[in-house]
Amino acid sequence: MTATAAPQLKHEVKDLALAPLGNQRIEWAGREMPVLKQIRDRFAKEKPFEGIRIVACCHVTTETAHLAIALKAGGADSILIASNPLSTQDDVAACLVADYGIPVFAIKGEDSETYNRHVQIALDHRPNIIIDDGSDVVATLVKERKEQLSDIIGTTEETTTGIVRLRAMLNDGVLSFPAMNVNDADTKHFFDNRYGTGQSTLDGIIRATNVLLAGKTTVVAGYGWCGKGTAMRARGLGANVIVTEIDPIKAIEAVMDGFRVMPMAEAAPLADLFITVTGNKHVIRPEHFEVMKDGAIVCNSGHFDIEIDLKSLGAKASEVKDVRPFTQQYKLPSGKSVVVLGEGRLINLAAAEGHPSAVMDMSFANQALGCEYLVKNTGKLEPGLYSIPAEVDKDIARLKLQAMGIQIDTLTAEQVEYINSWTSGT
Ligand code: NAD
Ligand code: SAH
Repeated sequence: MTATAAPQLKHEVKDLALAPLGNQRIEWAGREMPVLKQIRDRFAKEKPFEGIRIVACCHVTTETAHLAIALKAGGADSILIASNPLSTQDDVAACLVADYGIPVFAIKGEDSETYNRHVQIALDHRPNIIIDDGSDVVATLVKERKEQLSDIIGTTEETTTGIVRLRAMLNDGVLSFPAMNVNDADTKHFFDNRYGTGQSTLDGIIRATNVLLAGKTTVVAGYGWCGKGTAMRARGLGANVIVTEIDPIKAIEAVMDGFRVMPMAEAAPLADLFITVTGNKHVIRPEHFEVMKDGAIVCNSGHFDIEIDLKSLGAKASEVKDVRPFTQQYKLPSGKSVVVLGEGRLINLAAAEGHPSAVMDMSFANQALGCEYLVKNTGKLEPGLYSIPAEVDKDIARLKLQAMGIQIDTLTAEQVEYINSWTSGT
């Protein structure tokens, strides 16, 4: 680990010697991020973040590197910390420090104490804007650093669970600044949560285990955006997918999409593989572990490591053994074993590289433009959750289509008139 070694740049990364590899990989990711590239080029000219301190708490990946570089091009004084102890790509962290002069505090596999210390370091930067992924930095600010609240212009939140936490803060009257809801932009969750999580979750499972998915009975817990993508891609690889839900509408949707739907208690003895993507707590619990098949594989791709009750599993287990990277076998007193991937943390970011760059291009375009919107509206927005403006969302989609070389139709004058009138019926 190198701490504070680069000239005058504070950082905590694994090894600055990894920078050349990081550089190569960041460049590769850039091929699939044309929308963010255009935004970065504009930021470089207009410098919207001159004099603004930004803290980004995101997965430190090749894609996040492009966001950090775009913010820096826009004049921001920013630092980057990890939003998850297992997702950091150490070569990327090294490259951002060594080649781009961006302070990074993130090491793959850091313990919870280090993770929390990095959150404190981020707040020591006295941010004006917080880019959060799960709301850990904002929650810490609100709880522990009230004296800094007056520095804050706003926050932009990346993920579903972060939005849930921000809503809870608003309800409790403790959120005193505006929050941009990046997750709910159409060009974010339609693509990132669905296609990104769908592909990268299975990528993580395959990299961790090398199992064949064809013919495997696979439970997907939660049929929200992430669950739909995961179930769709698991089926595409030949898995026999069962969905569990608590929402009757989502459950009907899953049924009509052709999946079997049943409670976890019924699914537990049937499946070879379990994937949780609910954002909820203890979706797989001791009573489920007890009836699982010997060698069943369990993993999570939702926020935080609480969807699977690993504490109870650990307490029951007579032995916990590393059997492959990111793969641990828990032996139960019954003689059966349960295999847990990625310590119950997001498997797509722990064992694979997270979402592919092409979807993060749109997610991070929303982040970059969300930050710019906050700066442009400094002092004008009441505390609350704000959608990314619809025209920004559409512009991102337009730019993405353009970059893909795809044209679409435009309304004719006759069509405009028709859809705006109520007089012409059947
Ligand atoms: P969502 O709200 O669209 O879907 C969650 C679904 O889980 C809902 O349909 C809900 O009814 C269901 N659910 C809740 N409790 C349940 C339970 N006990 N059993 C079964 N189903 C239950 O949210 P989403 O956008 O799909 O996100 C899900 C989680 O994944 C969030 O924590 C989010 O932050 C995270 N996320 C992860 C990634 C990733 O890279 N792995 C990407 C985006 C979002
Ligand atoms: N702090 C939370 C993070 C939630 S992760 C935790 O540790 O559980 C979910 C978010 O990760 C998604 O909203 C998605 O946008 C983001 N993500 C997925 N792949 C990524 C990638 N390649 N680079 C950066 N962020 C990514």
